[in-house]
Amino acid sequence: MGFFIDFLKQKTPKPGREMPGYYQRALVVTQAFMIAYFLVCYFLFRWKTGQWIAMPLFMLAASLVSLASIGKVNVRLCVWSYAAITLFWVGWYTHNFDWGFGAQHFLIPLLMLCFFNVYGPPWAKLLTLVGIIGYRIGLYTWSLSHAPVYPMSGPDGVIFQMTNSLTMFFMIACQFILFSSSIQATERKLRLDNQELSREAGTDPLTQLPNRRAMLDTMDNFMKNAPNERFSVAIADIDFFKKVNDTYGHNCGDYTLKSLADLFRERSGEVYAVCRWGGEEFCFFLPDKNLDEAAAVMFDLCSAVKKMPLEFGDNKFNITITIGVEEYDYMSPMEEILERADQKLYRGKIGGRNQVVM
Ligand code: GH3
Ligand code: MG
Ligand code: MG
Repeated sequence: MGFFIDFLKQKTPKPGREMPGYYQRALVVTQAFMIAYFLVCYFLFRWKTGQWIAMPLFMLAASLVSLASIGKVNVRLCVWSYAAITLFWVGWYTHNFDWGFGAQHFLIPLLMLCFFNVYGPPWAKLLTLVGIIGYRIGLYTWSLSHAPVYPMSGPDGVIFQMTNSLTMFFMIACQFILFSSSIQATERKLRLDNQELSREAGTDPLTQLPNRRAMLDTMDNFMKNAPNERFSVAIADIDFFKKVNDTYGHNCGDYTLKSLADLFRERSGEVYAVCRWGGEEFCFFLPDKNLDEAAAVMFDLCSAVKKMPLEFGDNKFNITITIGVEEYDYMSPMEEILERADQKLYRGKIGGRNQVVM
């Protein structure tokens, strides 16, 4: 008893157990079909049988209440009341008009709603399936031994049959459209989110350049796909960068790193890939370039950095960089090539900075 009271009071489902929007939409559409169908039945009954006119109206009212409960109470109550209405209607209709008019087909959209309930436990779905199959078989067996209250044949029978079949088919089609489009939308969003996540994971947040990890992936892929292609690498380090921080502040240091990254990016073209290697170091990957060609590119870059005007607040200043360049020797692993470039960079620092060592 307490469970049912809790159930009815439960306006907001537990976090993570909310019915998804597409499910609610499918439920509303299904109920809307039922309401329209009951209205049609009302006129059909008036026109053809002259009996039971109140029943479709009663069902219509029940469906309206059920539909209203979706926002007022909770979605589950709406599903349950919809199930009760359907089960009652199928039984009542078969009892009065015979099995052949196909009211039992309304069990299929009910089953669909049950199975597409993402948070419904599997045992509940299985139980519903067994219950609906049992109900259907029971009803059929019962109808075999009982004559309908209102026997009908000829064009009238066709009209009743068509009303049931068409409603059911359109209902199912709408459910399929809603469920499948939601799955597609979810998949698409997941794909885009994943792309964005892996992009972020490989991007340095300050400079928006690829980070060391992304660069190592690029190099690995290159070596895997073109093991016999030549390439060169270069590592650049800002000279006396600590002074920039100490003199103008950390924000100015960040600004300098961003400006430098912009310059590197602007000039990269098809010539090199660049990343923030860490701190105030940048790494370049130059596919198809031998040592001389790579060094030439780096000389240009080095003098462009020297000429780059930097302005932060009232402070105008310039920086220089030192670069170590190394060419692939077709045998050493990547780490060794990078290590050699780093040693050349170190030599450049000792040798006076603002230079390219090859
Ligand atoms: P050298 O010419 O020998 O390379 O001298 P340096 O001052 O550039 O080298 P050092 O390694 O002594 O200092 C590097 C500085 O870079 C220290 C560190 O605070 C600064 N740094 C590293 N990452 C960042 C960053 O993201 N932002 C800022 N503002 N500073 C950074
Ligand atoms: Mg430095
Ligand atoms: Mg450094």
